[in-house]
Amino acid sequence: MRLRFAPSPTGQLHVGNARTALFNWLLARGSGGTFILRIEDTDVERSSRESEAAIIRDLRWLGLDWDEGPDASGAHGPYRQSERLHLYQSYAKELLGAEHAYYCFCTTAQLDAERQDAVASGRPARYAGTCRRLSRDQAAARIIAGERPAIRFRVPQEHDVVFADAVRGDVRFQADVIGDPIIVRADGAPAYNFAVVVDDALMEITHVIRGEDHISNTPRQILLYEALGFTPPTFAHLSLVMGPDHSPLSKRHGATSVAEFRSKGYLPEALVNYLALIGWSPRDAGGGRAGGDDDELMPVDELARRFSLDRVGHSAGVFDEEKLAWANRHYLKIADSARLAELALPYFNVAGVRMTPDEDGIAFLAFAMSMARASVDRLNQVPARLALLFDYSAEATLRDPAVREEMRGDGARAVVTALAEELASAPRLDRERFRAVANQVKARTGQKAKALFHPIRLVLTGRAEGPELDLAVPAIDRGADLPASAGIPPILGCRERAQAFAEALKQ
Ligand code: GLU
Repeated sequence: MRLRFAPSPTGQLHVGNARTALFNWLLARGSGGTFILRIEDTDVERSSRESEAAIIRDLRWLGLDWDEGPDASGAHGPYRQSERLHLYQSYAKELLGAEHAYYCFCTTAQLDAERQDAVASGRPARYAGTCRRLSRDQAAARIIAGERPAIRFRVPQEHDVVFADAVRGDVRFQADVIGDPIIVRADGAPAYNFAVVVDDALMEITHVIRGEDHISNTPRQILLYEALGFTPPTFAHLSLVMGPDHSPLSKRHGATSVAEFRSKGYLPEALVNYLALIGWSPRDAGGGRAGGDDDELMPVDELARRFSLDRVGHSAGVFDEEKLAWANRHYLKIADSARLAELALPYFNVAGVRMTPDEDGIAFLAFAMSMARASVDRLNQVPARLALLFDYSAEATLRDPAVREEMRGDGARAVVTALAEELASAPRLDRERFRAVANQVKARTGQKAKALFHPIRLVLTGRAEGPELDLAVPAIDRGADLPASAGIPPILGCRERAQAFAEALKQ
């Protein structure tokens, strides 16, 4: 199998297009086939190299690698349409020679007027065929006289076009509603329908998986394949990715591009897994239970192994960010801590916690990540979960009226004092030492459960709520011992926190 993803570099990679890329990639990888990246940049005004670079970066981030493409070798290149203009010219000439195509001299103004007429009188707005009837000599004379014609494909009128869509089943188009499409514009630029056929044929693409917004192009493309003597590939048109209101996912629904989801702190494996589930459901792995959450979360190689077009539905897929967040939580829980620490760095900077950690610093953050990974949806929530490490202030905590109220109780005050005294001589705390200290405080004060641990939490984290103390306390004390060279902002240890809190409480 040879499959391709053929983005137009006219903006960011939309998640709907990323899903299209993914489905092609999954089928290629699952079948031992070839995945090709082709850049469709013939629209000179709207295409840019920046957009191409952004799309390539996003595909790489998602892990969708290609075997042939603009930056990879391959026997079917070049892989940028702007570098293939000679091929389109030559096939257009061939079609002209065989009378499958003709020169069209109609001006834009003329065509607009015809279209408006047609729409006004309820006829389909298709090309009226004015230049279809010109003889070769008439056309040649007008070109010699200086006119610059477009080239149109002469759509055969005699038969309907039917194709077996791998997702939608048989699709039929009546030949007489298909107007003769332009294949090469007057300025020499190939039209999408033409370039895509020449490229898919020459690149020996066997399966074209794309959005259903292209389905009305497919009959023209099939007729072009036939006129050029090529065999059409298998087509599979995917329903579009919709927003919650069932209109195509767009900016007004919020984030739409892969880049936006990345910067919100989703992991690529979560986005890939989630996108695979929009419109596709995993096949029962064999005798086992199908359906259910556990069945939907799987690494990408397993997705590729299980992916098949016959399990792709044709009803619209709704993009549900809640479900993406659910997938992300799963992957955050199982991801390597050091990787998460690296990935979280930009979010600390955004949150105003500047750091340039070295290896020890990363190891520390990886350790501290245990406080965050089980309780956040996205990486951009990590700094808030770890803020207790960096911005401790006993005075600020005690300014909170609820905390002051709690600290009016003798029991709470006794816990603060006992904790400060116990810690004054204790070494840095790991989980076991922390438990031992908490037991000492319990024995000395008679406080237990919430009456014991809530004041301890306030003292050591400066907050009424947060991660488990068993996780937070060892992280605080490990942070307190870091050398400055680790590149982590200074962290006040538990001993110093307890001291400061007890002092502040006396004021
Ligand atoms: N360049 C087209 C697009 O981005 C590709 C369509 C196709 O896959 O044929 O929509």
